[in-house]
Parts: sequence; C-alpha cells; structure tokens
Amino acid sequence: MVMKVPAEARVDLEAIAGNVGMLRERARGAEIMAMVKAEAYGHGLAEAAGAALRGGATWLGVAKLAEALRLRDAGFTVRTLSCLGVPGEPYEQAVARDIDLTVGALWLLEEVVRAAESAGRAARIHLKADTGMSRGGARGSDWEELVDAALKAEASGRVRVVGVMSHLACADEPGHPAIAAQVGAFTEMVEYAEHTGARLEVRHLSNSAGALTLPQARFDLVRPGIALYGLTPVPALGGFGLRPAMTMVADAALVKRAPAGSGVSYGHTYRTTRETTLAVVPVGYGDGIPRHGSNLLEVFAGGARRTIAGRVCMDQFVIDLGDDALSAGEEIILFGPGDRGEPTAQEWADALGTISYEIVTRIGSRVPRAYP
Ligand code: PLP
Repeated sequence: MVMKVPAEARVDLEAIAGNVGMLRERARGAEIMAMVKAEAYGHGLAEAAGAALRGGATWLGVAKLAEALRLRDAGFTVRTLSCLGVPGEPYEQAVARDIDLTVGALWLLEEVVRAAESAGRAARIHLKADTGMSRGGARGSDWEELVDAALKAEASGRVRVVGVMSHLACADEPGHPAIAAQVGAFTEMVEYAEHTGARLEVRHLSNSAGALTLPQARFDLVRPGIALYGLTPVPALGGFGLRPAMTMVADAALVKRAPAGSGVSYGHTYRTTRETTLAVVPVGYGDGIPRHGSNLLEVFAGGARRTIAGRVCMDQFVIDLGDDALSAGEEIILFGPGDRGEPTAQEWADALGTISYEIVTRIGSRVPRAYP
C-alpha cells in the first residue's frame, strides 16, 4: 500500500543527472567530482550520488569522513574524497576502504601516516592549499613544510600524494579580485609541489561557480555542489539552464473559515482583515522551514501564491486564502522548479537574505524524500 505522507521533498534525479551533463559540457575536459555532502544538500546522499554518477560524474566528494564511509556502505566504489580533516577521525578505516583524504596540516598528515601504518597500505591524499580563503589548508612556509613532509611520507610508502586542491572564496561574485589572486596562488603552489617531486593525478580548485564561469580555474577536476541540484551558484548571472531538483510539498491539514480580526499564530503578528479562509500547512521550523519566513515567504496553494500568515511554528504554519477554495488534503507547493507558479528555493533565499544552499540543506530528516 502506498501511504500518502502529509509533506515530502520530491527529488527529480533526472534533473541531477541532466545538470551534471550540462556541467560536463561547460567544464570541457575537466572531470566532475559531485559534492554530495550534507545529505547531498538535503536531496539524499545515495540517491543523489547515483544520479550524479549516471550523469557523468567520475568522483564523489563529501565534507566529513562519516559521509564517505556511508557511501562505501551504500556500495559506491568510485573515487571518493573527504574534504574536511578533523582530529581523531577513524582514518584507518578511510585508508582500508580506499577513501581519498584531504590533508591541509602537518598534524593531520601525521594522523593519516599512523592510520596507513595500521591499515598496512598507503593513504591517498590531496594536499590542501590555502590560496586566500583563510579556512582549511596551508599557506606560505607551512605549505612548503607540508609538501616536503608529504613527499617524505610518500617515499616511505605511507601515502600517495595524488592531488593538490584549494577552494574559491568569491567565485559567486563575477570579477571579484580574489578570484584571480586565488588562481595565481594555486598555480604557484601546485608548481611548488610538482617541482618538489609530486606526481599529481588531479589539481582542483573550482566549485559550481568556478566550473560554470571561470575557465581559468577549472584545472583537471571541478567540484560542483549547488549546481548539481539545479540551483544557480551565481544568482547575478541567472540560472545557467540548470533544473532545480527539489520540490517541497505539503498537504493542507485543515481548512476553515475565520472571522475578521482573528489573530493568527504565535504573537498574532498577522490579523485577518475580513472573514476569510485559513489553511494549516503541516510543516514548520522543525522541518527546516525558516521562522524568519513568517509573514514573508510565499507558497503556491489553490492556484495562487500565498504569503505565510503569522509566525512559522515548529510543526506548521498558516496561509490565508481569502475566499478562494482549498480542501483539506490538497497539495501545497512550498518551492520547486517554478513551472507551476510556485516560488523557487532561490526566491525564498532572496526574500530571506540568504543563499539557496541553506534553503534546501536545512529541510530536515522529518520530511521524507521521494524519488518519483
Ligand atoms: N568544494 C568544497 C571543498 C566545498 O566545501 C564545497 C561546498 O561548499 C564545494 C566544493 C561545492 O561548492 P558549491 O556548492 O558552491 O558548488
């Protein structure tokens, strides 16, 4: 029996595969590492990873080692990079299960070397250069020390230095001076590693914005995240023909008439101005609907856009339909590709002063994902 659920995030896996195809064309020649961290930005780790590989990605990328191990548990044998090194992770398992590791500091190199010794095989590592983001990675003399130490560890068979990587800080702002500075720094830091003896398989710097708009930053491999899911990485430049993959829907839980002057939801921040029809939508901030969207975000219900009326609660919010008809159980589209009149995740992000990444990623585990 197929049970109807009151709310779900529908994920169009064909859209993900198609978006990868589009990225491959744009990033001509560079391999695609599909970034599926944070549950594939809320779309479902294994399902999105499978779709991205079908679309032509040849690597998977995650932030945390636990995510990479889950991909292995799910049967993915493709090259997989864990990008965020933190102390005390089970690096021995990572080495045993053939996961590529990002190493941006000497302490981490030492941990990985110890893990490789216990696992009895060499760890595959990508050295992380800090080219100007000032987040992970090494810069200046720390870079030289890291490269030198990694190549020594390679000579003793503990690691294999397969990549040099970095991350762009301002690729979503066309023409930002940090872009050229980071590309220049990356090129020099790669050259240092290669002149010191590194035999690199891949050099990689670009996220979605770089893959789509910065040919000079593509190198051997690009690491798109948001674009896989069909959301633009550079809102100022439009949608790039990407297809949003997630449609968030919920069925009206209750529809009722309310008299003029009714205060709606906590704090009565919305009050009806005349007799009207109110509908309860059974998702709230406990499901990842931003409370800052109270009296602000629009959803598509009963053939038109409606603004959330009053405060978003933990499990529900209310919309005001005026005299329009809607039945309990009727589907309301919160956001999606926009084809049917619903807002997009980008529109929600614009209204909230945030980025689309946050809108889709924060849709919580209480909302089932459906893959129609
Ligand atoms: N590479 C790394 C190291 C990241 O942390 C991220 C995400 O922040 C990405 C690539 C993908 O970025 P985007 O989603 O902007 O394409």
